[in-house]
Amino acid sequence: MTPFLLVLSSPSGGGKTTIAKSLLQARDDLGYSVSATTRPARSGERDGVDYHFLTREAFLRRVEAGEFLEWATYGGNLYGTLRQEIERIFARGRTAVLDVEIEGARQLRASFPNSLHLFVLPPSAEVLVSRLTGRNSEPPAVLRERITRAADELAAVAEYDYAILNEDLVLAVAQVAAILDAEARRVSRQEGLTPFIDRLRRDVLAQAARIAGD
Ligand code: 5GP
Repeated sequence: MTPFLLVLSSPSGGGKTTIAKSLLQARDDLGYSVSATTRPARSGERDGVDYHFLTREAFLRRVEAGEFLEWATYGGNLYGTLRQEIERIFARGRTAVLDVEIEGARQLRASFPNSLHLFVLPPSAEVLVSRLTGRNSEPPAVLRERITRAADELAAVAEYDYAILNEDLVLAVAQVAAILDAEARRVSRQEGLTPFIDRLRRDVLAQAARIAGD
């Protein structure tokens, strides 16, 4: 199969990171693209695992050096996907799972037209807000900005291939897994298909010739 990008987006608090982590735990055909960011680490977050935490200067230097496949500003901080992350995952023949906001997803669609884009929807405004406040990590002004931005982000769902309602985590993960399995069987994603079909046709014709000779 030709490796591809699985791009997950949702408003902050939509649950895409949790879905991505559960998927990664359950399957070994996926690799998580660890994003770079200039936002400070939340408690429990580890450098190189949850994010590559960079200073603004270091981030911009890497932008200049062309090291990012995409990058965007969110809440005053910079976030981006490093080319080396995707190369590392593809080199192992795995599908790359990316957790990016909408601007970044647009950039990825432009450079990887065969990427698969999923939008994760919160079941209600109350759930979205309670997930955000439950983190206890953002001051009220930042929280308000994230919630307001969520309303804009929800309008972008039409740009995505699939929408997943994240009411029940287990169900949402199963739905994403089912989509992944179906998409991996798309003819255009199966690079080994042409030689297999060529061989199969040759063998079928050989069988036909044998029957004709009987
Ligand atoms: P958070 O600060 O809550 O971890 O992430 C804020 C937003 O940045 C989320 O919508 C998340 O999907 C997005 N984000 C995380 N990594 C990247 C990235 O590499 N590129 C882009 N464009 N957005 C990202």
